[in-house]
Amino acid sequence: MSANSILTVGSIAIDWLELPDGRKGEVIGGSATYFTMSAGRFAPVHVVGVVGSDFPQQGMDIYHEYAASTAGLQIEDGDTFRWGGRYHSDWERRTTLYTELGVFESFNPRLSTKNRECPFVCLGNIQPALQLSVLNQLKEGESLVICDTMNLWIETTRDDLLQVLRRTDILLLNENEAHLLTGVPEIVDAANQIRSMGPGAVVVKQGSSGATLVDDSGAVHAGVYPIEKIVDPTGAGDCFAGGFVAALSKGKSMRTALVSGSATASFCVEGFGTEGMLNLTEETLRERIEVVAERSEFA
Ligand code: AMP
Repeated sequence: MSANSILTVGSIAIDWLELPDGRKGEVIGGSATYFTMSAGRFAPVHVVGVVGSDFPQQGMDIYHEYAASTAGLQIEDGDTFRWGGRYHSDWERRTTLYTELGVFESFNPRLSTKNRECPFVCLGNIQPALQLSVLNQLKEGESLVICDTMNLWIETTRDDLLQVLRRTDILLLNENEAHLLTGVPEIVDAANQIRSMGPGAVVVKQGSSGATLVDDSGAVHAGVYPIEKIVDPTGAGDCFAGGFVAALSKGKSMRTALVSGSATASFCVEGFGTEGMLNLTEETLRERIEVVAERSEFA
């Protein structure tokens, strides 16, 4: 196990997307898929997740290419997790058309001895009960725990989520989710209230307005890379997390990781489904990090 190994648990999905320009279609998705594609080029990513027997080979190929190990990727009889989403005309807000848990309903994540030793653990967006099950298999305090979540879990499984937060070091969430979780309208105040629930640091993702990091040193804001045209925003949050955690795993500061997360997410929104992530290389990322750093208040 190397010092920069990342363990990630998250959804592995077949998504149905409907975009404001009329484009629609089925793609491989899921929080773990986007995370692995964004972090896997820069750090060894060990994946824990489940797919059904209907999961296409094309999806497995992504994992074989980007993950350091897929030993924790279980294939079960049944249907792969499916999510359908329709975006509003602002290309940011979206309506969930359906969420079908499929094999996630009875998923019981089992961590190998190796996986338990990963110094970085990213709990991607997934039912908090599964995030807890992963946390319960780790040695308390030995890994840096980064967690992502979404409105569905804040609304339906709040108590489980609060248990996860007590054991989380860094929480990433969207601006509207921060409001939903706290009832506090102002971003920094909301983030500070979340910090009192457990995480020492909170990253509030603000879509095309960038992201704000709030920790012991105060609040800092990172901008975004100016892309020409959004093709599909799906997965941007997970790619932000991937870029952020990959940078932390290389020993970068939280502020530098914030810029890296923002730059990484910009690749994602340039393609349909995971297509945009194919353009992410060490060189293209470096170029975009420079641009985002210039557009960040702490450059
Ligand atoms: P993002 O756009 O970063 O929020 O992530 C989009 C991905 O989240 C899609 O590929 C979906 O498959 C996945 N997703 C949507 N809803 C859920 C959910 N309830 N649990 C886990 N993953 C989800």
